[in-house]
Amino acid sequence: MTSFIDLHSHSVVSDGLLTPAELVSHAASKGVRVMALTDHDDVAGLAEAEAAAAEHGITLIPGVEISVTWRRRTLHIVGLKIDPQSPRLVQGLQHIRKGRHTRAEGMAESLLKKGIQGSLEGAYQFAKQGIISRTHFAQYLVAQGYAPNIRSVFKKYLIKGKPGYFEYDWASLEDAMGWIIESGGIPVLAHPGRYDLGRTNMLLLLEEFRHLGGVAIEVVTSSHSPDQYQEFARLAHQFGLQASVGSDYHGPGHSYMDMGQLPTLPSGCVPVWQDWGGRKLWFNAVSVLLLRIEWPSIL
Ligand code: AMP
Ligand code: MN
Ligand code: MN
Ligand code: MN
Repeated sequence: MTSFIDLHSHSVVSDGLLTPAELVSHAASKGVRVMALTDHDDVAGLAEAEAAAAEHGITLIPGVEISVTWRRRTLHIVGLKIDPQSPRLVQGLQHIRKGRHTRAEGMAESLLKKGIQGSLEGAYQFAKQGIISRTHFAQYLVAQGYAPNIRSVFKKYLIKGKPGYFEYDWASLEDAMGWIIESGGIPVLAHPGRYDLGRTNMLLLLEEFRHLGGVAIEVVTSSHSPDQYQEFARLAHQFGLQASVGSDYHGPGHSYMDMGQLPTLPSGCVPVWQDWGGRKLWFNAVSVLLLRIEWPSIL
């Protein structure tokens, strides 16, 4: 059974391919009833997404995905139900976005040393009005023929140890979690299976995350395998954390999984949305269930 809820997605405001309105419309067309827009380090798409959600009769959860450096590694913390106008959050995100520009200059310089010209301007052309990210460098490098697709260009140029990788200090875990909590939001550890931390560091991270007010971890996400759904369901249980579901959708052809395709949480997980109450959520859940029973073949 697929989940009617999707709490992790990106628009052109960060490194997604669709505008916030297009993204919401796409989600609605795929049967998603509750979605979060969680652009990297920016909340500029939320107003447009909210308006589109109202039009489509679905629920938009205001979100953000904050880049964090923890023990010299990059982690992502998703904030759900944030207040996008909260001053500390706004300031913190602004600071990260400035840092993204400095880092992009560093990346372009290292790529130039390898004979790759024009990558800063090229990446900014792909970023359009949004933040600048490695994804935009990847798009430029693919367009210039340095690799056949985004995934291979990351492997060859943009991951740690490769010529276009530029070490950068993002927000601290403590700050990012503080901004989310102070804005009234819920901190969620994004795609924990992607960090390659090893068992000891993963346990340390979960302990620290919980200690700082962490509420949930993403259990079902497109970058986890079914084995990892089970593994992180167990860890969530062990640490008394709730569980979240999110596709991390970046647009057609740019994601492992489309919206509306994610399986439901493994049994025993406490969904992060369990206390969101709201008749609307219940109504959505029940109506999707009824639709499934009545028209199983078309859903
Ligand atoms: P940045 O925040 O600028 O470091 O860019 C990180 C973004 O790049 C992630 O949010 C993904 O969208 C994308 N990304 C990271 N690693 C890969 C990869 N191996 N293949 C494709 N996309 C990736
Ligand atoms: Mn991304
Ligand atoms: Mn992420
Ligand atoms: Mn993401």
